[in-house]
Amino acid sequence: MNKENIIGLSRSVLLKHFEELDIPKFRVQQVWNWLYHHGVRDFERMANLSLTLRQQLNDQFVIERPKVTDAQISTDGTQKWLLRFFDGQEAETVHIPESDRGTLCVSSQVGCTLTCKFCHTGTQTLVRNLTAAEIVGQLMVARDVFGEWPTPTEKRHISNIVMMGMGEPLYNYENVSTALKILMDQDGILLSRKRITLSTSGVVPFIKKCGQELGVNLAISLHAVRNDLRNVLVPLNKKYPIEELLKVCREYPEISNTHRITFEYVMLKDVNDSAADAKELVRLIKGIPAKINLIPFNPWPGSSFECSSPKQIAIFADIVYKAGYMSPVRTPRGQDILAACGQLKSESQRERKSKLNSPSLPISCKA
Ligand code: SAH
Ligand code: SF4
Repeated sequence: MNKENIIGLSRSVLLKHFEELDIPKFRVQQVWNWLYHHGVRDFERMANLSLTLRQQLNDQFVIERPKVTDAQISTDGTQKWLLRFFDGQEAETVHIPESDRGTLCVSSQVGCTLTCKFCHTGTQTLVRNLTAAEIVGQLMVARDVFGEWPTPTEKRHISNIVMMGMGEPLYNYENVSTALKILMDQDGILLSRKRITLSTSGVVPFIKKCGQELGVNLAISLHAVRNDLRNVLVPLNKKYPIEELLKVCREYPEISNTHRITFEYVMLKDVNDSAADAKELVRLIKGIPAKINLIPFNPWPGSSFECSSPKQIAIFADIVYKAGYMSPVRTPRGQDILAACGQLKSESQRERKSKLNSPSLPISCKA
């Protein structure tokens, strides 16, 4: 029997499993605490459980993290880990240390179905969604590296999470939602929803759901202010154009001047970086409590864009700022190890359909 990974199960699913196994309900809380507060990797270490119960859990479940197959450190302290999952597929996770925080950039998919023109991940077709266990597992692996167990209340290496790694999180909503609820749980990893930011290229129907069910910070990859250009840069725009996207942003729950929506805007030389673009941006988002994060384009092998000049970025930022919006320019981090925004990609390949669908060959024909 293949044992189920206990990491990544929601509290309610865990409770259901325990009921089926005749394990008293209060044990869920204890086991949860061992897994997510203490980070134990072995049922043997769950000291307040009887020997019989530990054995029973061991017979039913495994406590499994992704395996780190490569680790790189940038000259600026950014770390990138290549993680391998149970089926051999791989995705990347990045840790960005700053003076007042440590941010973990988490992946939601292996590859991406979307094909934003300036993004390295977009050149890799979707291999598969990550499971909730694999999403939570990224944080657990990073916490293992820092020895950050039990969960500290302050001075954490990982104080913030951004869903800005590989993939489109809102195209894997159920697993991302289960994972984020585990990360936010009071009795475990205890990350406030205010310290979690989910970035989306604009999957309109799930933005609303995300606001209602998770209430995390929202970042929108806008990148263009006209539909004709956004259709090219972020092809999902053909399905959910700018007007629909901004409408759902206006309705995002709990936005206010202290809880703003971030609009991400990648600075592409002579493509989307004119003063007229900046003015149109300000006009479009009027009335939305917002911050504009300008991201200098990070090149990757084979990319066809250039980053806007520092002068042009400053002109753009100034127009946005004078209109009353914060317009920080995101400092590229970990560029030397291809860990910056949009540079992540793994070698995972989708199994060819022909291979998956072909009936098995008679033994004599096998190569
Ligand atoms: N799929 C989600 C989250 C991952 S990308 C999304 O698209 O929002 C995180 C951010 O990096 C997005 O704003 C994305 O558009 C941006 N990005 C992608 N490629 C980039 C590149 N080469 N240089 C700078 N930013 C990039
Ligand atoms: Fe996918 Fe985001 Fe890259 Fe677009 S920018 S291809 S949505 S990961």
